[in-house]
Amino acid sequence: MAATIIDGKAIAARVRGEVANAVAQHERELGLRPGLATVLVGDDPGSAVYVGGKQRASEEVGIVPFDVRLPASASFEDVAHELERLNADPAVNGVLLQLPVPAPLDGAALTGLIDPSKDVDGLTPVNAGLLALGQPGLRPCTPAGVLDLLADTGVALEGAEAVVVGRSNLFGKPMAQLMLGENATVTVCHSRTRDLREVCARADVLIAAVGRPRLIGREFVKPGAVVIDVGINRLTPEEAGNRSGLVGDVDFTAVSEVASAITPVPGGVGPMTVACLLRNTLQAARDQAARRESTLRGADERQ
Ligand code: NAP
Repeated sequence: MAATIIDGKAIAARVRGEVANAVAQHERELGLRPGLATVLVGDDPGSAVYVGGKQRASEEVGIVPFDVRLPASASFEDVAHELERLNADPAVNGVLLQLPVPAPLDGAALTGLIDPSKDVDGLTPVNAGLLALGQPGLRPCTPAGVLDLLADTGVALEGAEAVVVGRSNLFGKPMAQLMLGENATVTVCHSRTRDLREVCARADVLIAAVGRPRLIGREFVKPGAVVIDVGINRLTPEEAGNRSGLVGDVDFTAVSEVASAITPVPGGVGPMTVACLLRNTLQAARDQAARRESTLRGADERQ
C-alpha cells in the first residue's frame, strides 16, 4: 500500500496561523510586537534566500523583522559586536546567525555569543545543555518541527524504535534528545556506522539528515515504518533530468511503497523549520516579558 504523504506545508501553515493569533494577543496585552533579527554574513545566494524567507515569514505573522547584513570580509569581532548590540536591544527578542558563516569565521563560537534567552535557533551551549537535561529551553527549529509532523500524523513514539541518521549539532543530536524525551528508544547513525541498512531496517520511525541524495533506499525501511526526510540536496540539471532539482536523503518513490507515512522533499520538513522559528521568537518574547515583570515585582516588594 502506498504511504500517506505527510503534508509539511499544510501543518506549517497551521502553526503560522496559531503564531499570528498569539502575536496579536501579545501585542494587545503588552503593546509590543516580538522582534526577530537575522544576521547574514557574506553574500552566499542560498543563505540570502533562506534569510529573505525568514524575514517575510516574520512580517506575515506580525513579528518585526530586523535584517542585519555584514560583508564576507567582516572579522570575528565585527560579527561579535553586532550580536552583542542585538543582545542588548530590547526591541529584539530573537537573534539568529545564518549558518554557515564564511571561512575563516567560527560559526559555533559566534552562535555561542547570542544571549541564550534570544537564541531562537536553540543552538547555544546553554540551550543545548537544557535540552540534554530535559529542562525547558528554546529548541532547535528543524528537530522541533519534525516532532510536530510526527504528532500531527498521530505517530506513537513511546517505546518506538527510532533511528536518526546524522549526528550534527544542528539536527541529529537535538533530534535524538527530543525523541528520547518522547520515550522512544533511539539509535543515532553516522558515517562510521557499520551496516547502516541493517540498523535503519529496525526503525519504526526513521529520520534521515545526511545530505546524500537518495541514500535511504527501500531495503533500509521496515514495512509500515514512518520515514522523515530532512535532507535537502540540489541536483545538477543533468542529474535532475525533467524533475525538480531538489531531492532528499530518501528515495521517495521506492520508499513510499513500503513506509506507512513519509515526508516529501520539498514540502515536508523544510516549511516546519521556519514555522518553528516564528514560534520560538514568540516564546522568547513571552519569556523575556515574564522575566521583566517578575524583576519589577521583586523591586517593588523590596521598596
Ligand atoms: P551535516 O552537519 O553535514 O551532518 C551530516 C551527518 O550525516 C553527519 O553526522 C555525518 O556523519 C552523517 N553522514 C554522512 N554520510 C553518511 C553516510 N554515508 N552514512 C551515514 N551517515 C552519514 O549536515 P546537517 O546540517 O545535519 O544536515 C543534513 C541534511 O539535512 C542536509 O541535506 C541539510 O541540507 C538538511 N537540513 C535541512 C533542514 C530543513 O530545514 N529541512 C535543516 C537542517 C538541515 P559524521 O558525523 O560521521 O561525519
